[in-house]
Amino acid sequence: MDSLRGLNPAQREAAEHVHGPILVVAGAGSGKTRVLTARIAHLIDAHGVPPQRIFAVTFTNKAAGEMKHRVGELLSRDPGGLWIGTFHSLSARLLRREADRLGFSRQFTIYDEDDRLSLIRRIMDERDHPVKLFPPKLIQNLISSAKNRMQTAAELEATGPQDAAVRVAADVYVAMQRALLTANAMDFDDLMLHPLALFRHHPDALERWRGRFDFLLVDEFQDTNRAQYELVKFLGLGHRNVFGVGDEDQSIYGWRGADLRNLRDLQSDFGDARVVKLEENYRSTRPILDAANAVITNNAGRIVKTLRTHRPGGESIIVVAAADERDEAEWIARELGRRVTDGAAHAECAILYRTNAQSRALEEAMRRAGLPYQIVGAISFYDRREVKDVLAYLRLVVNPSDDEAFIRAVAVPRRGIGDMALAMLAEQAREWRVPLLAAAARADTIATLRPNLKTAFTAFAELIAGLRRRAGESAPVVVMEEVVQAIQFETVLAAEGSEGIERWENVRELMAAAAEWSEIVTDEEDPGTPLQRFLAEAALLSAVDTSKGKPDGVTLMTLHTAKGLEWPVVVISGMEEGLFPSSRALELPEGLEEERRLCYVGITRAKDALVLTWARARRRGGELRPGIPSRFLRELPPELIDERRTSFAVGAIGGWTGQRGWSGGREGSGLGRGAGSPYRSMPPPRDGAGVFAPAPHLDAAMENQDAPRLVKGERVRHRRFGSGAVLGLSGVGKELKVSVAFDDPEIGTKQLLVAFAGLEREWESA
Ligand code: ATP
Ligand code: MG
Repeated sequence: MDSLRGLNPAQREAAEHVHGPILVVAGAGSGKTRVLTARIAHLIDAHGVPPQRIFAVTFTNKAAGEMKHRVGELLSRDPGGLWIGTFHSLSARLLRREADRLGFSRQFTIYDEDDRLSLIRRIMDERDHPVKLFPPKLIQNLISSAKNRMQTAAELEATGPQDAAVRVAADVYVAMQRALLTANAMDFDDLMLHPLALFRHHPDALERWRGRFDFLLVDEFQDTNRAQYELVKFLGLGHRNVFGVGDEDQSIYGWRGADLRNLRDLQSDFGDARVVKLEENYRSTRPILDAANAVITNNAGRIVKTLRTHRPGGESIIVVAAADERDEAEWIARELGRRVTDGAAHAECAILYRTNAQSRALEEAMRRAGLPYQIVGAISFYDRREVKDVLAYLRLVVNPSDDEAFIRAVAVPRRGIGDMALAMLAEQAREWRVPLLAAAARADTIATLRPNLKTAFTAFAELIAGLRRRAGESAPVVVMEEVVQAIQFETVLAAEGSEGIERWENVRELMAAAAEWSEIVTDEEDPGTPLQRFLAEAALLSAVDTSKGKPDGVTLMTLHTAKGLEWPVVVISGMEEGLFPSSRALELPEGLEEERRLCYVGITRAKDALVLTWARARRRGGELRPGIPSRFLRELPPELIDERRTSFAVGAIGGWTGQRGWSGGREGSGLGRGAGSPYRSMPPPRDGAGVFAPAPHLDAAMENQDAPRLVKGERVRHRRFGSGAVLGLSGVGKELKVSVAFDDPEIGTKQLLVAFAGLEREWESA
């Protein structure tokens, strides 16, 4: 019974449940994931369920690794054979056993976004669709979202027959699926869709897989998409032992096709699912929970949940105004440094943000402050050029039909094979109906090729054939070493200078990773070779699973990536309109509500301390833009807030200094105007309007960087000269001058140094 130790009665009820569908719906930090983990251990421990008959889905591969480790701890032994992972990785495993039924072979490759995009580009070329008119990325998105909605090409076309882009996408869709089949490859969407096709068309396979697992468990159920839910239905409708945990308020992937209906459908589709509610929050202090609830209440039509915390006291939510993103980052670094001095470990702190682009300023500040940090999810190690090059060779060794791998590998090192030669080869391959590698092996019979190209192609094909003969059951690192030797990759990279040396380091890191590689799941029945399984795993490791920097440092990641995680100290930076909520999300229906759920997710990551920062100006897309506090700040109850501002935010900025919107908010509009927080009195966001100056400390850095941009035509007010309109600007940094035509004819047009002029926006000073 050890595996249930420490659970409260409601949690225990859920974890002890054995047969029939059950849904745990509860707010953040109530122990959903903990219950799911305990239940796996309990099934194995108390009910003797063999681990390989349990199918457990987590949101990232990293989470799967951690959960498996935790189950192992609860059991005091390794739960080997457990099927645990993301939907995609579990599907890939299932497909490795069934690929032949779908016309693929077991050696199939998983195409990542780059592979797919390059394939789409080639198809568009072949079929004379102008890529200038229809960007391949757009076509890819159209196809991918159709796939996620489980639409065929014809169904996609029917959604917009008069839309040229949709017609092109539908045409490319058909050609792409054909090409994927020929290349023995699947993209990420296919990984979810092929099992469904298998089950639909092969009742015997469905029966076998239904009998294969006795228990299905899904964490973060609110973020499953329709195809994933179908898979749960296929696998679970026999025994109905489906256990879902989720929180509607944390559904943040609607833009990627996640469908909240799944949470509700689970209750009806499986017939009277038991519903367990958890109402005790173990993670956060009272002010943090109150803040989270205050924000999420603004979403309409949600089911209100109770969430209690027994953690007494707790510090107020700190809200900080900064001058710009660098000032913001400096302040955060100082604040975290202070907390570390007071005893917090670096790893207990996290800085979250809406977009990856925000990480740069934060990273620089952390470095300057000498604080160790790690960035999670910015760029996947497996996305690096040199890493992909080596993997392309391995892919070709495993799957000789993999045309994208061929195109990549044949170019490294240079073999004198240009685009023309490749096009001729591709042409011939199409005619012969064989993959590029097979065509290359017979290149000497291709009349259009010059003799040196014939030799280059055949030599390459022989190289791969040799590697393939020797690969067999070898460990991935052994094959990798042979590849690197064969193409003299170190020498090739060294010729690129210092950057090449860095790249070589990455290749060595890849080899180290391969040497250390052990599977999350050990599975004796898996028909693949170790190399195949390694490649599948590498392809599925998303950026989210990869971090760079010091693992025991402060964590920097996006709000989306932070789902399910927790830290004692959490900073959410960039709390500004247009950034968070993001203006792009606001264009989507339901966009604002999804952003608000994301805010709820962010706030509830904090255990003890929550800091929210915003900047009055921010460089975005090469421009300095004015910042207005996020509406989510305005939704916080004032009594929870400890308001602060950085020293630069106090004096330096004309447009904001001392005006009512921020510090003066109390008198005119604070509590006096109903439930007003200081932010409630902010003027409504105005598009693009704003006059502001950089904080003085930024001069040096700004000279070579994005110069600030003042808005021409903007109405401003000067303390002495009165009102006027901005005519133009010149200079950068401290020298930035603005020319203003003042209304008073006596004063006329004046050139002023922005940093010292103390200009205010007229609509704020009126
Ligand atoms: P989220 O919605 O953010 O994914 P969750 O509901 O999955 O949250 P968990 O991550 O499982 O919540 O738990 C939150 C924290 O509370 C964890 O640190 C967990 O160890 C702790 N916790 C959960 N249940 C208990 C309990 N009964 N006793 C003590 N601590 C608990
Ligand atoms: Mg969780």
